[in-house]
Amino acid sequence: MHRATYLIGMVGLNEMAKIHTGHEMHESKDAFKFGLQVIAHMKLLAEKMSKRHDMRFVLEQTPAESTSYRFAKLDMRFHSPQAGYIVKGDIARGEIYYTNSTYLSNDAVINPIERVREEGLFHPLIEGGSLTHIWLGETRPSPESLANFVTKTFQFTQNDQIAFSPEFTTCNDCARTARGLMARCAYCGSEDVDGITRITGYFTKISSWNKGKLGELRDRYRNEAFIRKKADDKQIQIAV
Ligand SMILES: [Zn+2]
Repeated sequence: MHRATYLIGMVGLNEMAKIHTGHEMHESKDAFKFGLQVIAHMKLLAEKMSKRHDMRFVLEQTPAESTSYRFAKLDMRFHSPQAGYIVKGDIARGEIYYTNSTYLSNDAVINPIERVREEGLFHPLIEGGSLTHIWLGETRPSPESLANFVTKTFQFTQNDQIAFSPEFTTCNDCARTARGLMARCAYCGSEDVDGITRITGYFTKISSWNKGKLGELRDRYRNEAFIRKKADDKQIQIAV
């Protein structure tokens, strides 16, 4: 057991920064610095606890698929109306969530390499594993542009890992799969379709997602280097 590592995850750093500084982390330098200080402090605490208990505690970007939804729901229940100003997503639909781990807001309109650079500043503090998502939507970037992006990430940022995440629509009638999230099958026109994309680290069918994750999916800013803006509501309704 002395070789075991105990992982500590975090959810909602971005919203915590907003409560304390008035801004989300991508909106102001102070808010971003505040976020870095919180994680640096958590890292120190983890090191102290490791020494004190002779156990190995490290920070990790845990997937927290349900926690980011659950925390937001609990805060809405016990801390309304204030929580309503802070939680992300769509309150009317009940699709609310907190931004996971140390990520910048999903809907922040930021150049992808800038997101990779800024989120990467947290990565040296997180020993258990960290990454930045690049949401591609339906675009198919060329191998050259992907290679160029990876090279830039390696040379100019501290980012540990990046994940390029496309989206697909799969048809329950003809069993074919097309790029992008669509309300009907691109091949046979059937409306009996499901979306597939990365929920956190892995790909799943959107029909299995909780409401918080659906809210996040609607918010995801598809990165403009490989261009496409937010998927419109109609497209994502296939999932609801
Ligand atoms: Zn079809």
